[in-house]
Amino acid sequence: MARLVLKFGGTSVADVDRIRNVARHVKREVDAGHEVAVVVSAMSGVTNQLVKYVKDTSEFYDPREYDAVVASGEQVTSGLLAIALQAQGVKARSWQGWQIPLKTDGAHGSAAILGIDADKLSACMKAGEVACIAGFQGVGPDERIATLGRGGSDTSAVALAAAVGADRCDIYTDVDGVYTTDPRVAPKARRMDRISYEEMLEMASLGAKVLQVRSVEMAMVHRVPVFVRSSFDAPDAGQWNGTLVCDEDQIMETQIVSGIAFARDEAKITLLGVADKPGVAAAVFGPLADSSINVDMIVQNVSPDGKTTDITFTVPAAEFARAREILGQARNDIEYRELRGSTDVVKVSAIGVGMRTHAGVAARMFRVLADKGINIQAITTSEIKISILIDADYTELAVRTLHTLYGLDKA
Ligand code: ASP
Ligand code: MG
Repeated sequence: MARLVLKFGGTSVADVDRIRNVARHVKREVDAGHEVAVVVSAMSGVTNQLVKYVKDTSEFYDPREYDAVVASGEQVTSGLLAIALQAQGVKARSWQGWQIPLKTDGAHGSAAILGIDADKLSACMKAGEVACIAGFQGVGPDERIATLGRGGSDTSAVALAAAVGADRCDIYTDVDGVYTTDPRVAPKARRMDRISYEEMLEMASLGAKVLQVRSVEMAMVHRVPVFVRSSFDAPDAGQWNGTLVCDEDQIMETQIVSGIAFARDEAKITLLGVADKPGVAAAVFGPLADSSINVDMIVQNVSPDGKTTDITFTVPAAEFARAREILGQARNDIEYRELRGSTDVVKVSAIGVGMRTHAGVAARMFRVLADKGINIQAITTSEIKISILIDADYTELAVRTLHTLYGLDKA
């Protein structure tokens, strides 16, 4: 017997038939003798609609009321799932965040989880009653509903799994696991049987959309094994596929590079003719940081004349206009000649814990991209990843080329 937390995303609970299907997955685990809690998202599209209602009502809104509205999607699905389970003869009840309670900080709209009082929930699970939990929501210090930010129910599930001491957190989604890269871009992508927390964290941060970044951080910190699988597998199939996100030492055969991620939502800014003197980088990046704009890749050229230089860096595409405006306002402090920017760029990354112990991974990447005539505009590296910025037109070519280079293609 194991203790399990199962999580079903929006597409898995998109309508009543699918909720019944979810109930069959849950029943299978209950029948196998496991103690089960289930975390659900809102039906797909519902949260978007609720957010729109709020914004249509007023451009300026009280974030506490925003949370009251947008958290309601999960209230609906948690109740419907309990009803579907009861109809299949399984004992179940719904739980809202405040009932548990799942306590958050006061940052309404993107609250962080501070702690979970798991006693009532554990007792419920032990008594053989399935806990159907509304994801994405908790209760703030002001005793009002707080939501965890878009996609937050992955984080709810992993946090609850840690709090109730679950043996595993199963994330049911619309794909059957984590792939070496996006199969829509590289048809030779393979599903991984296992991936380490660290690699998954990089994959999620660098563009893979299967798990929310915060949920992976949470799983890594609390050492919760997370199994990603598809809710569209038949509930009674004896066999299914998936990817286990787990500790590095639980993976027998590691590749040097495990996956290729890419992110199209990057924008590039170049400041030409910046004075080459101490304090300039601070003058450029200080105002951006003050406005909470995340700068990712940074390249500063050597100055040919010792007087001026060029600085290139990336920001999220959604912040592109704001970043340009801020740099425009700071022009007198920074003293640059010209600002150029473009959003036609993509960041492609190779990720693998094997890079810690193997040299030459980057060199091979640069060679093979050069052979294909792909120009690299910026580079960043960490212990387990190399990221390059290239022209967006070359996304497919670069991803496929690197996928083949590092031996990831399926046979
Ligand atoms: N329903 C929320 C959203 O769409 C939370 C989630 O699905 O994880 O962002
Ligand atoms: Mg999601």
